[in-house]
Order: sequence, then structure tokens, then C-alpha cells
Amino acid sequence: MHEPRPSDIVALDHAHLWHPFTQMQEWLAADPLVISAAEGNYLIGADGRRYLDGVSSLWCNVHGHRHPAIDAAIRDQLHRVAHTTLLGLASPPAALVAARLAALAPAGLTRTFYSDAGATAVEIALKLALQYWRLRGEDRPGFVALVEAYHGDTLGAMSIGFSETFHRFYRPLLPVERVPAPYALQRLEARPESEALAIALERLDETLRRKRGTIAAVVLEPLMQGAAGMWPQPVEYLREVRALTQRHETLLVCDEVATGFGRTGRLFACDHTATSPDLLVLGKGLTGGYLPLAATLATEEIFRAFLGPYDGYTAFFHGHTFTGNALACAAALASLQLFTPAMLAAIPAKAAALAAALAAAVRPLPSVFEIRQQGLMVGIELMRDPQRRTGFAPAERIGHRVILAARRRGVVLRPLGDVLVLMPPLSIGDDEIATLVAVAAESIAEVTGA
Ligand code: PMP
Repeated sequence: MHEPRPSDIVALDHAHLWHPFTQMQEWLAADPLVISAAEGNYLIGADGRRYLDGVSSLWCNVHGHRHPAIDAAIRDQLHRVAHTTLLGLASPPAALVAARLAALAPAGLTRTFYSDAGATAVEIALKLALQYWRLRGEDRPGFVALVEAYHGDTLGAMSIGFSETFHRFYRPLLPVERVPAPYALQRLEARPESEALAIALERLDETLRRKRGTIAAVVLEPLMQGAAGMWPQPVEYLREVRALTQRHETLLVCDEVATGFGRTGRLFACDHTATSPDLLVLGKGLTGGYLPLAATLATEEIFRAFLGPYDGYTAFFHGHTFTGNALACAAALASLQLFTPAMLAAIPAKAAALAAALAAAVRPLPSVFEIRQQGLMVGIELMRDPQRRTGFAPAERIGHRVILAARRRGVVLRPLGDVLVLMPPLSIGDDEIATLVAVAAESIAEVTGA
């Protein structure tokens, strides 16, 4: 095949593509970086330049790009079949991954329902929760979600994870009660950190009491609200939310699309407190970040509520064309096999090295308001005047300018507003951690004039 030139790709992109989460007017005004290959923790530009993948290709790459074991598993699956439907047929990779997830996930989550994006897996969790209560003879149309939650951009996921900036043109469709997690109380209500946990739990308790019998589920991102700008939670919050949902007899949905698969230092964020939700949502890193596959895991109790004779029509009438795609499941199986005890045990040391480097090189910069980290998940919030808590004006595009400065230094990043996100593949090495932090520090200093 004739290899197109990078300039042709830019022209075609500018003429025909519409990029996600992108102001296209700004996009069209500059030539984009074209990534045409990758290797390990590096992306390779069409001009041959190598860039450290500092955000794991939007938080999903786990073991590095072109990992031999995952590449081989996909190739091997291609020799058999790329895709067959799970509607009416079984498929080896889909069954094997479901069994593996049941073994690895928090206790009791034994059933996997597949889809193809974090958002669709969230939709499935919401629908399962709604139908579960209906099947038990209760009408519970409402959900409780966190202030500044993010669960994806489809309508249901957006209802529970409503973001004013992202979603203001779409009114939430589901009735949702908002409760602040502890960090939201510190940030939005200036509550001291020492009181925030107790107040957050009190608010949830009060909400569940007031809305008794109408709440299908409490939905949250455990340990770190990613898209909010990396808002961390104390582990006790998750443990106590689980206790409250049990006391008030409602379901708990944990969205581990961003936190799952080793990101926070354990396989799942829920593992930090041995918390088992009723529904667990997984995506991104499930295939090692190779292919679009997501999963909604449920307990046997929820699963059994849907059983009955055909003509009772209690089945879960939901599915997507590519539900349980064989290539994606083959990648997932290979990726899950790479999570050996030794591999998981190495993550906390990497997280500690990252924290130490950030404390030395980034923390002292005058525009750094906070560094928030859980495992290999970091948000560095930049402000014009951190003491007075005055931010930069959005039009200054500080976060964006910092990532462009980092790119010139050979690191690809993507900010959340003025929060610089560092989320390297779990396979990142010590030297690469040092490079990542040095580049982040230099780029922040360059753009903020420190
Ligand atoms: N939930 C969380 C916690 C996420 O961070 C994201 C994506 N960043 C999603 C859901 C949506 O996943 P997807 O983009 O695959 O639809």
C-alpha cells in the first residue's frame, strides 16, 4: 500500500474529521501532531520523533504499546475469527474473560455484561439497577451521584455525571440527587479537611433517608474523581458509602473505568478497602488499552432477579452489535494475564517515585496550587495565585499551552482545563518517571514564567 505523507493526513483530517472534546476552530488553526506508530511507553510521530505517552493514550494503556503478548493474542484470535455475536451464540474469549474477571474482581461480582465503552457500561449499570428494583416490585427511578462526577457522554451516563462545561446543552434525563464527596466540600464549601469526611457521609445519609424507597443506586468513581480534575477521596469514604447503601437498602455502583486495572496501586480501587459494590463498571484498561471493550459486573443476586420463563419478559433486553467482540476479549485475556503479583507489587514503588519527583521539582513552582495523586494517577492544578486561589482565565489556555510545551520536549499529555494530568502506563520505568516529571516541571515553568 502506498504510504500517505503526514501532510496528506493533516489535510484530510482538517477537511473531514471532527475530533472529540475539541474546539474545532482552534484545531483547524494549527497542524496537529500525527501519531502513526508506538512502541512500549512511547508514541511515534509520523516524522519519526518519539514521545513518552504521559497519559496512557487517554488513561487506558496499561502495559505499553505493542506488547508482544497482547499483539500475539490478537493475531492468534485473528486466525480463528474477529467477531461473532453473543446474541444466541457463545464465544471462547468472551467466556474466558468473564471467568477471569469473576476471579479477580471484588468478591461477589460473578457476572459480566459486555459493551464497548465506559459510557455504555455505565448505561448498562443504570438500566440493570432500574430493572432490578422493578423486578422486585419497587419503582425506584432515582440515582444518587457525586458533585462533579463524570461517567461518560451518553445520555444516561451524562445525567448522573453532569458537568456544566461538557454537558450544559443537554439537560440531565434521569432524576439525580447530588452529594459532595469530601474533596468537593473542601473545594466548593471551604470545609476543613478534618471535617469533610464526616460531613460528606452525613449528607449521603440524609439524602438516602429523605429519598427512602426511590433511589435505585448510589453511583461513584471510587478513590479518585478523574475528569473532575483528579479529586481524591480518603479510602474510608468508599468503605462508609458501602455501609450506608447497605443500611438504606440501595445498590452501590462503582465506576472503575478510570481507576481499574492497577491505576491506583491495587488491581481495583475497591481493593484498597475490600469493598464489593453491587455493580462494577470497567472499561479503558480492560484490554490493556488496545481495543474498545467495557464490562458491567453484577452480583448473582442481581442476576437472579432477571431469571424467569421466556414469556415473563424479565430478561435484560440490552445488547450492542459488538458486545463481547472476540478480538477485544482476546486482548483482555492477554492483558489480565500480565497482572502477576510481581507486576502489581511494583506499582506502589513507581507511585512513590513519581510522588517524590513531583514534590522535588513541581511542588515548589509558584503557580502549582495542588498535586493530587492516587497511584499512577496525578492531577497538578495550576493557578495564577494559589495563595488567593485565583485561577487563570480560561482564554489564557494555560493547561493547553503547558502540554504543547511538554510536546516540544518529547512528552504527550492532555490536561483537564488547568489541571495537568500525568497518567503514564503502568509499565513506565524509573528513568521515564524522571523524564515525565522533569518535562512537566520545565513546561509549567516556561508557560507560567516561573
Ligand atoms: N467513567 C469514568 C470514571 C471515566 O473516566 C470515563 C472516561 N474518561 C468514562 C466513564 C467514560 O468512558 P468512555 O470514554 O470509554 O465512554
